[in-house]
Amino acid sequence: MSNLYQVFRDHFDLSRPLLIDAAGKTIATYQDLEQRSAQFAMALMQLGLKPGDRVAVQTEKSIEALYLYCGCLRAGLIYLPLNTAYGAHELNHFLQDATPSLLMVDPARANDHGAGSILTLTMDRFGQGRLTNLAQDCPTSHSIEPRAPDDIAVIVYTSGTTGLPKGAMISHNNLISNAQTLTSAWGWTQADVMLHTLPIFHVHGLFVGLHLPLLTGSAMIFQPSFEAAAVRTALAHATVFMGVPTYYTRLLSQGIHQKDCEGMRLFISGSAPLLAQTFQDWEAATGTVILERYGMSETGMNTANPLDGARKPGTVGPPLPGVECLVVNDAGDVLPVGETGHLWVRGPNVFQGYWQNVEKTAESFTPDGYFKTGDLAVIDDEGYISIVGRSKDLIITGGLNVYPKEIELVLDAIDGVMESAVIGLPHPDFGESVCAVIVSLPEVDLTPEFIFDQIKTRLANFKTPKKIFFLQNLPRNTMGKVQKNQLREQFSDAAHNQ
Ligand code: AMP
Repeated sequence: MSNLYQVFRDHFDLSRPLLIDAAGKTIATYQDLEQRSAQFAMALMQLGLKPGDRVAVQTEKSIEALYLYCGCLRAGLIYLPLNTAYGAHELNHFLQDATPSLLMVDPARANDHGAGSILTLTMDRFGQGRLTNLAQDCPTSHSIEPRAPDDIAVIVYTSGTTGLPKGAMISHNNLISNAQTLTSAWGWTQADVMLHTLPIFHVHGLFVGLHLPLLTGSAMIFQPSFEAAAVRTALAHATVFMGVPTYYTRLLSQGIHQKDCEGMRLFISGSAPLLAQTFQDWEAATGTVILERYGMSETGMNTANPLDGARKPGTVGPPLPGVECLVVNDAGDVLPVGETGHLWVRGPNVFQGYWQNVEKTAESFTPDGYFKTGDLAVIDDEGYISIVGRSKDLIITGGLNVYPKEIELVLDAIDGVMESAVIGLPHPDFGESVCAVIVSLPEVDLTPEFIFDQIKTRLANFKTPKKIFFLQNLPRNTMGKVQKNQLREQFSDAAHNQ
């Protein structure tokens, strides 16, 4: 029996709190989860859905949305989370590709989802709507559909390295193994309280954020979105917090300090690189050390800094138990310690392939089962991995490889620089030229000349940015990832004046 929900069920105690509020009061118990998810499973069956059918969900985060997710798992349906920011055009691609049997949308989008003939029901940000009503009339017990280990539990759409988003098929066993690995690596127990502020349409908030509490039967404080002030208040009743790096910088600028974090045992960061400066500022302000980990939609979590032992800034730690990582050159030969190359991973966490895309699946795996992540990485002599960036962001200038991260680290260390993003822009001679986009600290007036002066002895000529641009903020998506394609577009005109 490999149904993920069954594995949760085997571990949680019905009488314990599932959700508590920021003051520590119980809002829902595991009994509520068991009963409400059974009702959703039954309502979905009554609508005619059968195991293996897809349920596309583009709703706001709510308790009912959590019950619906668990209802899909226990009915053997394939859950398909969709970013709430997607517009009708993007939605159309997912719906045509995944052919779901049901689409759940926010009522505000009821007439604007491009679902055509697909059965569409609404769920609002409080979790109310037609399916919730149908579920309320269903019995509160329902069997859990048996699943084979490789049966698909969730399809997550991801852009990966290129092209249109592809549906990564994630099996029950992928999710079970990753959740078990992480609960043990992070010492998670029933006594933990997770402060959950991430969206649940992405692997970070859906898999890591929810599965660890559910697998240990521990409680969550479940906030609809990240609000720095609300987080500071809720920390008093939490023990673990997970966030993207932006959450940490916002909490720092809100003046978070040691007193806010007294009951906290773990702060975890991922989904985008955490600046070494943020890591250090956080430790100075709160007395706690952020644990940075690395994962992706296709693989769940691959590496993590240790719970006990050194957490090194700028690294994502060694591979998690059971996960194998290789850093290889273009020919696929394993590189020595300290050399940058393509990161490949293999393990029970790695997905089953892209939905109805045999070609892309074949391209993404080696014959011996390593998944080519599309990330560039380097391993140090203690086995800690640093992510250098996506291989699509690698700059090739005059035939030479330039890794943006190396230049960004030099720029970030300059007084007055808050952060930077290095991109390649088209160049008539070099193919691409290295260009830098810099965000200065508030009230600091930096000039390109000053920056050039600072870096001229620290970078080889071919790595030195040829142009420097300034912005107030770097464009980021909801998961805190810098949108380098947007920067390339924005500054591509400047390339013609080089
Ligand atoms: P997604 O599939 O949306 O979760 O994005 C996965 C990608 O996010 C990875 O392939 C990495 O490029 C990036 N990523 C995730 N965690 C980290 C991290 N801790 N440091 C740097 N990049 C990260």
